[in-house]
Amino acid sequence: MKDRPLTITFASLGLAEPIARALSDEKYEIPTPIQAQAIPHAIVGRDVIGIAQTGTGKTAAFALPILHRLATTDGKPWPKAPRVVVLCPTRELGAQIVDSFHAYARYLRLKTMLAIGGVPIGKQKRELASGTDVLVATPGRLLDLSNERAVSFEHVEVLVLDEADRMLDMGFIRDIRKIVAMIPAKRQTLFFSATMPSEIAKLARDMLRDPVTVAVTPTATTVELIEQRAIRAERQQKPALLASLLRDEAVTRALVFTRTKHGADRVVRGLDNEGIAAQAIHGNKNQGARERTMAAFRSGEIRVLVATDIAARGIDVDDVTHVVNFDLPNVAETYVHRIGRTARAGASGIAISLVSGEEMPLLRDIEKLTRRQVPLSGQASAPQRHADNEPRGERREGNRQRQGRGRGGNERHDGGQPRGDQRHAQGHRNDRDGGKPQQNQPGKAQHRGNRTGKPQGNRHHGGPSRPHDGGNIGDIGFMSRPGR
Ligand code: AMP
Repeated sequence: MKDRPLTITFASLGLAEPIARALSDEKYEIPTPIQAQAIPHAIVGRDVIGIAQTGTGKTAAFALPILHRLATTDGKPWPKAPRVVVLCPTRELGAQIVDSFHAYARYLRLKTMLAIGGVPIGKQKRELASGTDVLVATPGRLLDLSNERAVSFEHVEVLVLDEADRMLDMGFIRDIRKIVAMIPAKRQTLFFSATMPSEIAKLARDMLRDPVTVAVTPTATTVELIEQRAIRAERQQKPALLASLLRDEAVTRALVFTRTKHGADRVVRGLDNEGIAAQAIHGNKNQGARERTMAAFRSGEIRVLVATDIAARGIDVDDVTHVVNFDLPNVAETYVHRIGRTARAGASGIAISLVSGEEMPLLRDIEKLTRRQVPLSGQASAPQRHADNEPRGERREGNRQRQGRGRGGNERHDGGQPRGDQRHAQGHRNDRDGGKPQQNQPGKAQHRGNRTGKPQGNRHHGGPSRPHDGGNIGDIGFMSRPGR
């Protein structure tokens, strides 16, 4: 990755030998910036606030100093009483954290276990009863286990909060505060979050002691590695355009983002009609279905995974060549999280956003945040009927989850109402092309093209794409690029 301080190596961090050996097995040579900054403080017992998102190597930034502590101090875990508790927002992220601990601790005799909701609690109780060094858990399930006296916090030495901002988004703050209140005050706390909204900053102030704050700038480091594009396309044009983009053989593994669970299912059905195998991953699917889908995506059995933002948090699949934003997210930072899926561990990738007229202000927000212009191609001529790409009454997944959990719906830092809707209500238009009538009819051409089932990329037409000049959206062959 870029921006690595040259002087810091894993050897200079002084990690215990079995851990260093495991890192060498993993082919980790140089610490990533968040690791280089966080590990020296964490390893001497300081509390750390790490501002970093998935893809920066943040898991090892907390896992390695924790394993060093466990490897260099005596102590077998007591029944039900873990020495380390890691709280995280989703099952997928939890599973990946456990995988990371297993990988880095492969030469240590330590036990790491996962306690997540959506699966029977009995096995987790039995595992806890036999003693675990590291417990990785989602807050709701951990509270359930605590209420059933299946876990005791009295021997916890280190507490980690991973993706704290996402836990806030998902309405877990009260659960977290209850758990923290049960953990001994004399502990080390490692607190990771991609962003620092005020409620998260307050939580950190309340639970950390004299913390060191370290930060990496994901918008600069991650975004630089990714080739970003946007295509103007109205809601009704998007399914056919998506299918034609995904037919390009340069797309070996694509992650498609939608705002809603129903939207994800609709996209999968649309692709299926076009003969493109895809599966969706979102909060309505049970754990078994999610795991099967992820395994099929990892193995390459399916090339296209359609995901909502919440379900996609923590998905760690290498070699995602393309991220496609079927809808733009209402929060610009979410865009950075999304496209970061294609730039894992320093790899590069391509991110394509399908942008309707109503979504143009969101594209401007993204450009402001990332301080980069996203080249825009094509245009749309079809009339717009509704502000959002979601049918009325359909809500974003996060909102529904919060409602379902009955924990109050006001624990969001981005406000209850999606920004796109607010802008629409205010009649706010900020289109780059001023919303002027368009000269040609690309949408029609696109639909015609797709009925024939032929790919629409320009390599099939032989002409270059014409960013910003109103070219046909079917004439954009940029799923591949030289050198990939
Ligand atoms: P994370 O941000 O923890 O989800 O890590 C993102 C990816 O980077 C994972 O696939 C890690 O295995 C990988 N990774 C983490 N640290 C390093 C490193 N120092 N060198 C190479 N790869 C790394």
